[in-house]
Amino acid sequence: RTKGFTDGIAVIGLGRFGGAVAESLLRLGHDVLGIDESAELVQRWSDRLTHVVQADATNGDTLRSLGVHDFSHAIVGIGTDIEASVLTVLALSELGVPDIWAKALGDKHGRILERTGAHHVIYPEAAMGERVAHLVTGKMMDFIEFDDGYAIVKTRAPREAVGRTLAECAWRSRHGVTVVGVKRPRAEFEPALPETTIREGDLLIVAGATEKVEAFAAKM
Ligand code: ADP
Repeated sequence: RTKGFTDGIAVIGLGRFGGAVAESLLRLGHDVLGIDESAELVQRWSDRLTHVVQADATNGDTLRSLGVHDFSHAIVGIGTDIEASVLTVLALSELGVPDIWAKALGDKHGRILERTGAHHVIYPEAAMGERVAHLVTGKMMDFIEFDDGYAIVKTRAPREAVGRTLAECAWRSRHGVTVVGVKRPRAEFEPALPETTIREGDLLIVAGATEKVEAFAAKM
């Protein structure tokens, strides 16, 4: 049993997706156990991750011997090999891992993962593709959509707003969007207040129903 990993996070499959997840978790200060069946990848990650093991993650006994049943979170980044992805999620589920995240390549794959015990199924390519579509067609500089059609975007302040305060702009009543933050050129984002005056070149963080924030961003 690997000691000291209670509350740790297991990342299984250190390909492009799993690797990016592991890297970010490390940066956030978490203990990460990486598992991949590829000796080459394990070698490549060996000096970066807290712990890296070359193993077949579809094998529940192997996962148990690595102490994965004590982990609070597991992320399965295996995608291309759907059978391995599903069997790994099943093994984690049987070990009782309380929070299992898994990457799906498509809808059917995702549905199987949910039935097999994944608590969260992520569709990285579909999600990124959707995001890019919003960015390409709209005037937004960044776009995050939550469930239920609610989004937060980064956009330039409309020209008509220059010299006016947010209270005067009254975008919440006129357009149904809320300005959350304002960034002056070369400054940090600041919380938006009713008395904040919009200046030339300001960037805004705007929240609201997806179609409302899109319409707002398209105005400028
Ligand atoms: P990506 O597109 O994110 O790179 P892939 O599906 O191509 O995703 O890569 C997934 C990773 O999972 C690969 O590094 C592969 O070696 C690893 N992998 C696949 N099957 C298993 C398994 N049964 N056990 C452990 N690792 C696996």
